[in-house]
Amino acid sequence: MTTGTLYIIAAPSGAGKTSLVKQLADTLDNLTVSISHTTRQARPGEVDGQDYYFISVPTFEAMLKTQAFVEHAQVFDNFYGTAQQTVATNLAKGLDVILEIDWQGAQQIRSIFPDSVSIFILPPSTDVLRQRLTNRAQDDEQTIARRMRDAVTEMQHHNEFDYLIVNDVFEQALGELTSILIAQRLRLAKQHSRLNTLLSSLLSGR
Ligand code: 5GP
Repeated sequence: MTTGTLYIIAAPSGAGKTSLVKQLADTLDNLTVSISHTTRQARPGEVDGQDYYFISVPTFEAMLKTQAFVEHAQVFDNFYGTAQQTVATNLAKGLDVILEIDWQGAQQIRSIFPDSVSIFILPPSTDVLRQRLTNRAQDDEQTIARRMRDAVTEMQHHNEFDYLIVNDVFEQALGELTSILIAQRLRLAKQHSRLNTLLSSLLSGR
């Protein structure tokens, strides 16, 4: 059985990455979205074990010590990390795995998994980005201003990624994202192991 492909999806806060990834996971089968661990507080509506595993700083540090994370980073004032074991297990099962992580984590993953595919989502404009961060209404003014600055830092790393998508019209961005994953699944190496039986039969002429 072929192993799954590891996808890195990054974006500045407010680019609409999470909604795109949620919809993508509903659209395609054999796909799983990694649930990160974070030390930040849950926002209203966020569910532990679904959006994130919300953990304390001491627990995060203990996990770091036991090398439980395949990558980790400090983003804003909080720590985030991806559990190594879950990613490895899912890839081995043949599932495609999506990591929604920042540019720092993306750099770490690329060096460990050179075959990973990375996608960066951009907002259509600064005004729209500001609007989206404001519409969330989950963070105060100061936090929004800080996130606007952090968004620029994140976007400065866009050129380290394989693909760039502008999330202006949601359906179009989703279509573009889906086509990247489908194209990846059609690559020769992936198809070879998937179509083993068909190819043997076709090539034997029987
Ligand atoms: P938020 O707190 O708004 O959900 O996410 C803030 C930032 O942290 C986003 O850029 C998000 O992609 C990133 N992030 C979320 N989980 C992880 C993770 O496991 N590792 C890394 N490196 N970044 C993460």
